[in-house]
Amino acid sequence: MQLIIKEITPGYFHIKEAKVHVTLVVGSKKALLWDTGYGITDLMSAIRSITMLPLIVINSHSHIDHIGGNFAFDEVYINPTALASAAFFNSAPIREIGLIRTINVHHAVKRDYSLTRMTAVREGKIFDLGDKTVEVIEIPGHTEADLALWIKEDEVMLTADAVNYVMWLYFSDQVKQSTIVKSLTKLAEYPIKNIIASHRHTPLSHHYLVELRDVIANLRKETCIAVDPSAMPLSDHTDLLEFHTLILHKEVQIVMRENQFDIY
Ligand SMILES: [Zn+2]
Repeated sequence: MQLIIKEITPGYFHIKEAKVHVTLVVGSKKALLWDTGYGITDLMSAIRSITMLPLIVINSHSHIDHIGGNFAFDEVYINPTALASAAFFNSAPIREIGLIRTINVHHAVKRDYSLTRMTAVREGKIFDLGDKTVEVIEIPGHTEADLALWIKEDEVMLTADAVNYVMWLYFSDQVKQSTIVKSLTKLAEYPIKNIIASHRHTPLSHHYLVELRDVIANLRKETCIAVDPSAMPLSDHTDLLEFHTLILHKEVQIVMRENQFDIY
């Protein structure tokens, strides 16, 4: 499988692997890799074709398309709340099923994740890339342990799956409708010029973030339809509800568990 590299805004590269982008931020002294993809390609060669600077690697959350390439790095930062789930998704049997069901990849190379040091990172941690400083923000919503990264010099927010055209809000019973609204409100307080998301090839705007937050705040169970559970491969999802809306002329799909609605 080919990796596709694109500089989406100066110093910010999207490397596309199957259905996901990992983001490489290149500073003057260090580079930062935001997520590691499915782990089915040679991500390191792609990174080294862009920069030879020392690399900091951070996982946004624990889903299979964001942590699968961790094996290639000595150290990966992660929210400690996501650690157990990351180990689950990268365990051999779950990874095998997950790759088949999400991207139809059979017989993927088995990876050894035991040599990668997983280091806890929490809100407020700052990484210095030289001409860019990267601030870690905790935004539970898509999962209970999502992180975002704020780079103030460029007014860029990296949100991974926490702001998207498809919002999946169902993996944790700890996450409620009000949790995601609170997290998106927190992000909206930053003077954002560009939002870089993992499943979008172009940046999203601050305006989009606010509209998305308001749509989610106004969701009511009665106006949603039940999702076809066969679309959710890894567990029992019979309590999912789906809502489609238009935000800035783009169709946005929001999927939540029935028991997550807590705004009336
Ligand atoms: Zn995800």
